[in-house]
Amino acid sequence: MRLILLGPPGAGKGTQATAICDRFGVPHISTGDILRDAIGAETPVGVRAKEIVASGRLVPDEMAGELVAERLSREDARKGFLLDGFPRTIRQAQILETILKARREPLRAVVKLALPDEDVVRRLSGRRTCVRCGMPHHVESATPGAVGACVSCGGELRQREDDQEDVIRNRLRVYHEQTAPLAAWYAERGLLEEVDGRGTMDEVRRRLESALEQR
Ligand code: AMP
Repeated sequence: MRLILLGPPGAGKGTQATAICDRFGVPHISTGDILRDAIGAETPVGVRAKEIVASGRLVPDEMAGELVAERLSREDARKGFLLDGFPRTIRQAQILETILKARREPLRAVVKLALPDEDVVRRLSGRRTCVRCGMPHHVESATPGAVGACVSCGGELRQREDDQEDVIRNRLRVYHEQTAPLAAWYAERGLLEEVDGRGTMDEVRRRLESALEQR
């Protein structure tokens, strides 16, 4: 199972990725998570990325490419992987193509989780993320404890700095300009599946699973 999850911020890529990775036993590789860890640990990459991530812009393609190449070289990625938040530009897709060609590992599918802009803004502005395990919650969610502590690990919930409305708008603009063209790029290669990202987590998961069964 070698898979890419594409789609705007807030489409549910992280949530769905966790379910798919549990089911297929492959690592969930999120460049956003890798960058947030690097920023928290104040590594050289983290120091360079901090302001860029906070503003909702993209870190340089070569930086994102190197982070993914390093992660894919680890033992657990030999049986497959799910990429979430990478690639985000055509240049990154080319970098990935080169890596996978050298490994003789073609992708199985690229799934785009589609979500209208107004839903993105609503979801992200109400999102509260666990500082310990990264699990997302929503202030309007009926999940007990969603505005208190993480339902999975009990960790503290906080708003990500880049989930504030002006930054969300910026991330959306960047998505439409730089990332959305990837759907056509992967469609030309016969890899694209588009899944409606609206509705509950379970509804989206079922759609995603049936899209993957065709592959
Ligand atoms: P995410 O958690 O995927 O929404 O990513 C959070 C932020 O990390 C993005 O808004 C970018 O600033 C940065 N980022 C994550 N992945 C990439 C990538 N593949 N290329 C460039 N920047 C990225």
